Amino acid sequence: MTGRTSIWITGDQCSPFNSALEGIDRADAVVLMIESVARAKLIRYHKRKLVLIYATMRAFAAELERDGWTVDYHRESPDFAKAFDDHVARFAPRRVRMMQQSEYVPARRFSALVRERGLELEVTPHANFISTKAEFDALFAGKKRLTMEIFYRAMRRKTGLLLGADGEPEGGAWNYDAENREPPRAGMHFTPPYVPPVHASTRDVIAMVERHFGDHPGEIGAWDLPVTRADALEAARDFIEHRLDGFGPHEDAMIAGERTLNHSRLSAAINVGLLHPLELARMAEAAYRAGTVRLQSAEGFVRQLIGWREFIWQIYWRFMPEYRTRNALDATLPLPAFYRTRETSMSCMRDVLDAVHASGWTHHIPRLMILGNFGLIAGVNPQELNDWFWAMFVDGYDWVMVPNVIGMTLHADGGVVGTKPYAASANYIDKMSDYCGSCAYDRKDATGERACPFNTLYWDFIGRNHARFADNQRMHMIVRSWEKMDERKREAIARRARDLRTRLAEGGTL
Ligand SMILES: Cc1cc2nc3c(=O)[nH]c(=O)nc-3n(C[C@H](O)[C@H](O)[C@H](O)COP(=O)(O)OP(=O)(O)OC[C@H]3O[C@@H](n4cnc5c(N)ncnc54)[C@H](O)[C@@H]3O)c2cc1C
Ligand code: SF4
Repeated sequence: MTGRTSIWITGDQCSPFNSALEGIDRADAVVLMIESVARAKLIRYHKRKLVLIYATMRAFAAELERDGWTVDYHRESPDFAKAFDDHVARFAPRRVRMMQQSEYVPARRFSALVRERGLELEVTPHANFISTKAEFDALFAGKKRLTMEIFYRAMRRKTGLLLGADGEPEGGAWNYDAENREPPRAGMHFTPPYVPPVHASTRDVIAMVERHFGDHPGEIGAWDLPVTRADALEAARDFIEHRLDGFGPHEDAMIAGERTLNHSRLSAAINVGLLHPLELARMAEAAYRAGTVRLQSAEGFVRQLIGWREFIWQIYWRFMPEYRTRNALDATLPLPAFYRTRETSMSCMRDVLDAVHASGWTHHIPRLMILGNFGLIAGVNPQELNDWFWAMFVDGYDWVMVPNVIGMTLHADGGVVGTKPYAASANYIDKMSDYCGSCAYDRKDATGERACPFNTLYWDFIGRNHARFADNQRMHMIVRSWEKMDERKREAIARRARDLRTRLAEGGTL
């Protein structure tokens, strides 16, 4: 029997860089991996998310065995505790090694489980992030605000990414975001993402998920996500070669029925551990230096990976567990039924919800400016919307959802992630998409029967919160516009907004 040390690897740690596997004699260790049905039923996760995690775990376990590790893999176990006890009874480990959990609750739960059995626990650092808490704390020591841009520049300096020989940013600017907001153009063509082969083990998992979780939301459909390191690397190469150059300019565009545009769609593979953010950022930089990718696109992609992703991770660990419960704008509307049923006459919302149902993924702007913006301006309860996102997105985990939804999207953190709420009316959606032309609602109206709900709710949101935003420099212009608005119009907006919210609160739709 082997195994003085058990290396416990969870579903989002299927990484060749997993630090718990480092510096240890394979002959003296057993890798433990557990599929917990109870954990997967904790909330009603999208079926594709469950397929992704279990298929990746099974493929990773097979790779570890090929590499000479002994793996104790528990398929379809009722819960973690039962499988862990079976493992301890069989292998009698002296200690358990585990890479840092990415989420707050499992981190505490797994530590307790191990320690309650009288075993020693060694937690190794998370290997799929580039920044450390100590660096983050030092960077912002004594500062009033945690600013993503300051953090991002520090990360560029730390990694040396896209810096010239003089240590200054390539092209003279740190950030090319202003060039990356082009609306969609008619007739645009996008190369679809690479579709990896569907392995036999993935087919087994699909059948298993239908068996155990058939009542969960979402469609599994034709499987198209990487679940092995080799497939994930191929998907990354394909993105760099075919879509990265166009990523920047149309990063914020939305087109009905066109899901990926030039986005990488690599978040699921990154968050499950198959790809490392730094290797992707270096691939993007190499493509820029080889002259195949323009700077604004390479920089935009690098900023998402080493700027936003890392910033979100640090915010989570700085403010949890209390951060998850924040509701700075006192938003109380229950989650509208259409998020689950997809029954709505709002063209933009319906198209995005169809995408979520079919794939468990949309790019950033539909998340932020359609699904999230509606929740913000309608006043949906932050925790309810957060849990919906968490369940429905294939790349969703507590660490990344909470700061993105409670913070960036709903401004419920009181302005930690963003200095101003990302609230928008139909104006923005119409500018950045082709949705409004085919919609039952009138994108120009805010008060009539057919007025676009985004307009009514947007102005009502500004009105309801105008005292809160009065001192916010970045909200100054919009608050002034509301103050100057004709009193009768303001009343009509408030009346219609009340009607819309009542309809939603009673389970109706728009
Ligand atoms: C309401 C809301 C919910 C979100 N939920 C998630 C989530 O559950 N999981 C998740 O990984 N991202 C989440 N994001 C961030 C972002 O929308 C997704 O990472 C991105 O759309 C994934 O698609 P992509 O791989 O094509 O990304 P790209 O546009 O190609 O960007 C490259 C990578 O940068 C990283 N990234 C970019 N922005 C962020 C960000 N704000 N936070 C963290 N990482 C970022 C991701 O790893 C992404 O794969 C959310 C954003 C919002 C507004
Ligand atoms: S009119 Fe309003 S609801 Fe309709 S697509 Fe445009 S923004 Fe969406």
